[in-house]
Amino acid sequence: MVRLNTCPICGKTVPPATDPSGGMAPFCSQRCREIDFFRWSDGRYAIVESLSADDVEIKQIEASASEAQSEE
Ligand SMILES: [Zn+2]
Repeated sequence: MVRLNTCPICGKTVPPATDPSGGMAPFCSQRCREIDFFRWSDGRYAIVESLSADDVEIKQIEASASEAQSEE
């Protein structure tokens, strides 16, 4: 059974052979692992990943807020 993981940072396919110790999974390299770690620990992950999505989300919140108000 061959399992192929995809690195969540760079999207590269990670062959199981690159992860003999299991410490790198699911990342392709130590570098990608650290990038992910620092993004989370820094609290920057969501901001970096959702600049445009955040804008959409705010508009949705505003829309639903005004909807709720007009309903009352
Ligand atoms: Zn990677």
